[in-house]
Amino acid sequence: MEPDVISRALEALRRYSLCDHCLGRLFARLGYGMENEERGRSLKNVIFLHLHSRAAQEDTLPDIEKLAESGHEPSLKYLRDVHGINVEVKSCYICRGEIFKNIDALVKTIIDKIREEGIEFKTYHVGTRIPKDVLMRELEVVTNVGSEWAESIKRELNRLIGKKLKDLLPDKVFERLNPDIEIIVDVCSGEVSLEIKPLYVYTRYRKIIRGVSQVQLRLNVITSLQKTINDNICCRLGAREAIVHASGREDTDVRMLGRGRPLVISFVNPRKRPNEDELREIMRLENEPFELSTTDVKIANRRLIEKLKKDATRHVKIYRALVLLSQAVTDEQIRSLEEYFHNRQIVQYTPRRIKRKPPKKRRVRMVYELKVIKLCDKLLELIIKCQGGLYVKELITGDEGRTSPSISDALGQDVRPLLLDVLDVLD
Ligand SMILES: [Zn+2]
Repeated sequence: MEPDVISRALEALRRYSLCDHCLGRLFARLGYGMENEERGRSLKNVIFLHLHSRAAQEDTLPDIEKLAESGHEPSLKYLRDVHGINVEVKSCYICRGEIFKNIDALVKTIIDKIREEGIEFKTYHVGTRIPKDVLMRELEVVTNVGSEWAESIKRELNRLIGKKLKDLLPDKVFERLNPDIEIIVDVCSGEVSLEIKPLYVYTRYRKIIRGVSQVQLRLNVITSLQKTINDNICCRLGAREAIVHASGREDTDVRMLGRGRPLVISFVNPRKRPNEDELREIMRLENEPFELSTTDVKIANRRLIEKLKKDATRHVKIYRALVLLSQAVTDEQIRSLEEYFHNRQIVQYTPRRIKRKPPKKRRVRMVYELKVIKLCDKLLELIIKCQGGLYVKELITGDEGRTSPSISDALGQDVRPLLLDVLDVLD
């Protein structure tokens, strides 16, 4: 065995009274398949053998007393029986001997709390709150003893509690990155709190009437997608509220048809965590201005929200617009209009109707295809295949020159949009 380990462990015990856990933790990266408590006890045993073997040549009693003070039973017994010395055990310098004693009680509190609150989950993570003074003393010991093999008390406690929970919750999975619940344990007060992570559900929504919006922004909106989900679905999941994150949005007076617009719903504090099959049933909306796709339902995560927002401009969208002309147009004009808007780049400045800042921001979007159906002399139906983020109403009107080129420009007359629908959002 590396003598350095023994002399360092002995040096640590000469300076500080350390329990088996706290001594073993200084050497946590050495050995395999054992916990720090066993590591610490083994070190104390070897040190004791070493000191005992040297007893004839030198006075090793002061060091054996240090071992005994740290609670090493064989040393205590040896000093008492052979030398008639009774040594008083000192509490551990780092943990004060309290923290590791309480682990079983803490684990029991966790299990009781989970049962009591009736929360459904598949994955969990444990985090511990450790008093600052314990962490400071640990830092002091590691710095002074200088062990490059040490691990932190937080890591040891998380692992020990995690292991015990694993035995008691055999059908649950310990997960570091995206757990369903985070168990937070205060190792000193013994208090346990459960943080339920949001349930993210990916689906698509269709908006089948006009006059409603994604979120309730204005008072003149009857209802919103977010409110509809809050009123209908949150109770089915025992969630406190739902927040919608969609890939772009349509105006209040525009319907969203076809397969619908992709969205992630984040359900806050859900008590239930159904699987995807069950979610398909739960997501069903009936007799509401919105429909949620039940075939596209997937359990998602927070990262997908970012992706969805980024994808909003990458998606290809298909719009149907009913427009009113000021003068009749010929079939010839219609054909050249269609040709002109084939793969045409459109430059747009923030429309006048949008009041938010910055007031005049430039964006460039593509129109890929335009199909025109003449309904009567002055009434056209336009099918516009374009890049996400294009202001379609302004593509039609030109918005007094802020959008160029526009359909009004191309026809040399005022064209007014009457009704607009999103027919599809292509991935
Ligand atoms: Zn300790």
